[in-house]
Amino acid sequence: MKIHSLHRVKPHTKVRLSQYPADDTGIYKASKEADAQLEDNRQRLDTLQELFAASAQHALLIVLQGMDTGGKDGTIRHIFTGVNPQGCQITQFKVPTPLELRHDFLWRAHAAVPAKGVIGIFNRSHYEDVLVVRVHKKISDKQAHRRMDEIVAWEEMLAANGVAILKFFLHISHEEQTRRLTERLADPNKHWKISESDFAERKFWPDYQRAYEDVLARTSRKHAPWFIVPSNHKWYRNAAISEILLQTLVGLKMKFPQPTFDLKKLVLD
Ligand code: AMP
Ligand code: MG
Repeated sequence: MKIHSLHRVKPHTKVRLSQYPADDTGIYKASKEADAQLEDNRQRLDTLQELFAASAQHALLIVLQGMDTGGKDGTIRHIFTGVNPQGCQITQFKVPTPLELRHDFLWRAHAAVPAKGVIGIFNRSHYEDVLVVRVHKKISDKQAHRRMDEIVAWEEMLAANGVAILKFFLHISHEEQTRRLTERLADPNKHWKISESDFAERKFWPDYQRAYEDVLARTSRKHAPWFIVPSNHKWYRNAAISEILLQTLVGLKMKFPQPTFDLKKLVLD
């Protein structure tokens, strides 16, 4: 089975994250094979990105969500190394500013949607508005569900206007998060990455898992699918996401645009 269909969440199906092993490594037995695949994919991605930019028929929006230490930053670094930075646009979604809070919750996300020919990556996203705020009871379940319907409609509109959307949930286990936070605490060069909030949010682990399950079940669509990516092994996470990305780009069946003038008539003096 292609990785693409292996991890995709079928629309309108219940999700129980405990039934998805976070340390799954799919078709790869060891990191060596996955790393070789990733390297191969990176080179193909570089070539495909040029075609993607030149044809400018579609935009590509990649949404990365997951618990703290899930690997959102690492995914971006490993997968997009070597890809022309001019064709990529990365947006980090932090606690909303006072100005952002005065607008509807999709306002800042819409402003960051990539234009045709551009690959846009959301490091966290509009989904925070149905995750962190719901877990902390800033909105009711009813409001969360209404927002999810609004997200589905908004993403449908984007898709109808040429935006291909891929959404990745980086699935790690609680034990793996413990290990990663312990590692960060032990390494002075990683201390900058630690925030008090990571430790505070950890206490809400079961609430987050439930909130994610609801999001995954309600907002995965054919035109904007969610993928539950087993992410305890970083090498599997990287290989799987790059594979899904490539399969998607190849599926767009892009062509270089034809010149609008007769090349034979050009004279090089
Ligand atoms: P980080 O991605 O680790 O730099 O942290 C960003 C923080 O901003 C996380 O704790 C997010 O939960 C938080 N955040 C992002 N979007 C929102 C939002 N819409 N409402 C509240 N908090 C948010
Ligand atoms: Mg963080």
